[in-house]
Amino acid sequence: MRTFKLDEYRIDDEPYYQPTGDEIELFEAAYRNQLPVLLKGPTGCGKTRFMEYMAWRLKRPLITVSCHDDLTASDLVGRYLIKGGETSWIDGPLTQAVKAGGICYLDEIVEARKDTMVVIHPLADDRRVLPIEKLGTLIEADPEFAIAISYNPGYQSVLKDLKQSTRQRFIALEFDYPDATLETEIVVRESGLERELAGRLVKFAGMTRNLKGSGLEEGASTRLLVHAAKLMAAGVNPVSACQGAIAQALTDDPEMLASVNELSSSLF
Ligand code: ADP
Repeated sequence: MRTFKLDEYRIDDEPYYQPTGDEIELFEAAYRNQLPVLLKGPTGCGKTRFMEYMAWRLKRPLITVSCHDDLTASDLVGRYLIKGGETSWIDGPLTQAVKAGGICYLDEIVEARKDTMVVIHPLADDRRVLPIEKLGTLIEADPEFAIAISYNPGYQSVLKDLKQSTRQRFIALEFDYPDATLETEIVVRESGLERELAGRLVKFAGMTRNLKGSGLEEGASTRLLVHAAKLMAAGVNPVSACQGAIAQALTDDPEMLASVNELSSSLF
């Protein structure tokens, strides 16, 4: 297991984050009141960037854990390691954040094993404690500690649903793709692409988002637009950039690919 030096997780330079509503004020108010936060929204719409920005703003180290279906409570809390015949305890990322007053961001929380919720719950209510079962201890969270989790409600699967007992502990912030003007601004800032072309990419994204549910599981995210824009800014032909960075990322279905490529050819 990797050990963390929390200072390495401090964000020194202001990350570029374009607000889309009152999410900064809400997060700050939640943080000041020691309330945990749930970021809801599709992939690639700025949740991680927002957390980086907030951690910078609040001057706290940010520890991000991308949850996956093998992630257990021990991965978060810590475990015993045997080194040279000696056993020593290593704190996991959550424990380190709890002790040192960091912000722990659990990305795509529903992907993690169910036992992870057991360790999060007592941290996410007014007890603010972390039980470490293997050590038989209970750690009180540093007053500056905060927990945030993200969740994509779009997947709509019973298995990937967040339980009421979890969601009712969190202040929810809803994220979505920004409106066209803001999204164009983000694409320009992130890629250096000229505004007119960025605007057309955003229009293209809107078309793919309309196909959600009729052949596509998700439309093009802001992240994919930034990828395509970077290729275009590097001189790649726009249709090939959209094909490689967006269409292929959205689907493997040959008919859908052809339709999405047709949409980009109509714009560029
Ligand atoms: P998520 O965590 O929601 O999957 P990210 O935060 O990683 O998405 O966003 C993907 C990319 O999109 C970022 O790296 C950034 O380039 C861009 N982006 C999306 N929304 C914003 C925003 N509001 N401000 C700045 N950049 C953004």
